[in-house]
Amino acid sequence: MEYEIVIGMETHVEQNTASKMFCQCSAEFFGAEPNTHVCPTCLAMPGALPVINRRAVENAMMIGLALNCKIARHTFWERKSYWYPDLPKGYQITQYEYPIAYDGYIDIDVRDSASGNWTEQSYRKRVRIRRAHLEEDTGKLTHIGGSSFVDFNRAGVPLIEIVTEPDIHTADEAYAFLSALRDIVRYLGVSSGDMEKGAMRGEPNMSLRPIGTEPFGTKVEIKNLNSLRAVRDSIEYEVKRQTEVLNSGGKVHQVTMGWDDARGVTVTQRDKEEAHDYRYFPEPDLPPLDVSEEWFESVRKRVPELALSRQDRFTQTYGLSAYDAVVLTRDRAVAEYFEIAMGGIPARAKAAANWITGELFRLMGSAGVSAGINAVKASPAQLAELIEMVENKVVNINTAKSVFEEMFATGQGAKAIVDAKGLAQISDTSALDKAVQDALDANPGQLKGYLAGQDKLFQFFVGQVMKATKGKGNPQIVQGLLKDAIEKRRLSV
Ligand code: ADP
Ligand code: MG
Ligand code: ZN
Repeated sequence: MEYEIVIGMETHVEQNTASKMFCQCSAEFFGAEPNTHVCPTCLAMPGALPVINRRAVENAMMIGLALNCKIARHTFWERKSYWYPDLPKGYQITQYEYPIAYDGYIDIDVRDSASGNWTEQSYRKRVRIRRAHLEEDTGKLTHIGGSSFVDFNRAGVPLIEIVTEPDIHTADEAYAFLSALRDIVRYLGVSSGDMEKGAMRGEPNMSLRPIGTEPFGTKVEIKNLNSLRAVRDSIEYEVKRQTEVLNSGGKVHQVTMGWDDARGVTVTQRDKEEAHDYRYFPEPDLPPLDVSEEWFESVRKRVPELALSRQDRFTQTYGLSAYDAVVLTRDRAVAEYFEIAMGGIPARAKAAANWITGELFRLMGSAGVSAGINAVKASPAQLAELIEMVENKVVNINTAKSVFEEMFATGQGAKAIVDAKGLAQISDTSALDKAVQDALDANPGQLKGYLAGQDKLFQFFVGQVMKATKGKGNPQIVQGLLKDAIEKRRLSV
């Protein structure tokens, strides 16, 4: 039997706010000593009261808007009760009945997930977003030998949980969805999106149904996947496993699973009978959350143009290749750098793209600039100036490359460097003509050879003139002058 895969994704995004969701503890805990980012509120001491982190709410609204969701103007908080040692209160404060964002969608480009390339099989599709709500993270348990240790640094860090409709149908689509979501949270600046550091965790819910049938099959949920690759591999594994179960007449059990990355298998963690009864009820210690129109508008204005829309604009308006458009938009700061460097001039787009993906990325790589393009000394306006100098033939491309290295190293402007080092091309014909005549006079043998039909020797003369002008001769003018001068000599012999 052939089956269709049905996947709905739940994703937890950890926000990068300065403080936690309901207290003033620093939420920047990565690498800190255990239990150093804690206070009576996030440790659930009796009498300690929560206060809502305004920035965390704004971040959730921004994500909701980026996912084309409706934003709820009136919501309240609920307690989700369950007992686990890393949850100090014995419940989590969350949004259940009224999520801050709901009924949205995102469009994703489904590429070949191994290479990341757009191929014949690639396509764009829409994944509907059911809801995105705010909640707080739990602490972290570590089991060593026979003992367990708990670290509450992460307890109370703001999370956004995003739940899709079951619109995803392949492992590659799941991969593309999470990678698009990661790009979005990075664009918005609300999370590092680093799955490896746990800042984004994907949880596919998946089932199979015979192709052509309506009702969903029994789903399994794979928890806490911490890389895009793990999402793809675990889904592929589950498709094989569930297909075998169904084809041998068995039933898929509704379970929660983990992914054993080393062995490449899913492992059952909990079955349906052990499911928690969360006993949601309104959080009595917090007021309802009301979003005024004014507040909503001020947040809406902060949502930037997202990567996919920029990609479309870069290919359609600026004529860039899809490949360049993707490379230039993956990081919002790079996209913004590019747009300043090309100055809105479509004819300059390809040159600016080449400078950034070629020279600039190469220099950043060899200088080990890990803080991103914003840390680069050469500003995009300075690159624009350099590109214009190449266009106007003030410098040739090779000179421009060494000028750019200098700009990158010092932050000096293009024109300042060209002037200080006297690098401007010689376009003055009388100065160049002198060098042309000298080259012909000094090499009578080669001239004879050229006149006898050895065309290759033309480049030899170009080389001689460029050498004499220390590389500053305008190549087009040099070639023109050489041709004229050689023809004159041909007639005079
Ligand atoms: P739960 O209450 O167990 O979390 P939900 O109905 O809220 O389940 O759905 C959670 C996620 O699972 C959603 O993304 C939803 O689209 C998806 N989902 C629900 N049922 C199925 C199914 N049978 N197969 C695949 N995905 C499903
Ligand atoms: Mg669930
Ligand atoms: Zn605290």
